Amino acid sequence: MTARVWNETLFEGRVVAVSGAASGIGAAISRAFLDVGASVVGGDIDEKAVQSYADSLPEAIRPRFRAARLDVSSSASANDFIAGIRTHEKRLDVLVNNAGVAPVGSVTDTTDETWRHVMAVDLDGAFFLARAALPVLIEAAGSIVNTASVSGIGADFNYAAYNAAKGAIVNLTRSLAIDYGKKSVRVNAIAPGPVRTPLLERNLDALPTLERAFARFIPLGRIAEPAEVADAVVFLASPAASFITGAIVPIDGGVTAWNGQPN
Ligand code: NAD
Repeated sequence: MTARVWNETLFEGRVVAVSGAASGIGAAISRAFLDVGASVVGGDIDEKAVQSYADSLPEAIRPRFRAARLDVSSSASANDFIAGIRTHEKRLDVLVNNAGVAPVGSVTDTTDETWRHVMAVDLDGAFFLARAALPVLIEAAGSIVNTASVSGIGADFNYAAYNAAKGAIVNLTRSLAIDYGKKSVRVNAIAPGPVRTPLLERNLDALPTLERAFARFIPLGRIAEPAEVADAVVFLASPAASFITGAIVPIDGGVTAWNGQPN
């Protein structure tokens, strides 16, 4: 990335909304946009956590971050979140649909409740926020970045609901991209492989052992850090990606380049 497009004024005067901003990748995405001059509205179901994230920011950038309560699984909450941005920030340039949950389970292990919860957060959430935000994004000729996963390209063992929801996010991204392209809104998705966040840590009791296993099958030999995912999101939302829409961008150290044959 060149200094010409990647500096602290790149997003000056722009407003970015990030769902699931309190933790992991969402926190890193918020920070990356703050570092390039944006104002960021971070929504999270965990109101306390998103407020303490705000409090942890360096003083110089803290005034450009506003914490908000948001439950992406509720259309009313998504509508309120965007209405709050219309009132406070008065514009919206970028929506990052990042909030997600990833409970373990094959189809026969998955209850109705778990299935509905995963669909509600990981899929409905992106639909509700995109629908609420599109009128303001159209005014700003803005963009959306959805968080899919390598689990939406190929499937992970024992993550049936998650795989299904992330696969649907891939095609929701394409639908949005083709329907709103002529209105100058670009829509892309990132597909991260394993990233060192609380979500991954919760599911992996033995993270160090599993990290060694990941290291064997990830061509770059390690899992990702949240900031490496965040940088790709900033790129996709930036003028440097002005002709990129409908793209599903793997950030996976090469995992989806491998066909699974043992070496
Ligand atoms: P995380 O658990 O660290 O953070 C998720 C955040 O979303 C939390 O702050 C949580 O409170 C919030 N959230 C949960 N339900 C919500 C709701 N209903 N409304 C609003 N906020 C809600 O997880 P993470 O690893 O940072 O994951 C972020 C995104 O990246 C998810 O969509 C996840 O599926 C995706 N992803 C993660 C990995 C990985 O390895 N960590 C890999 C691929 C994709």
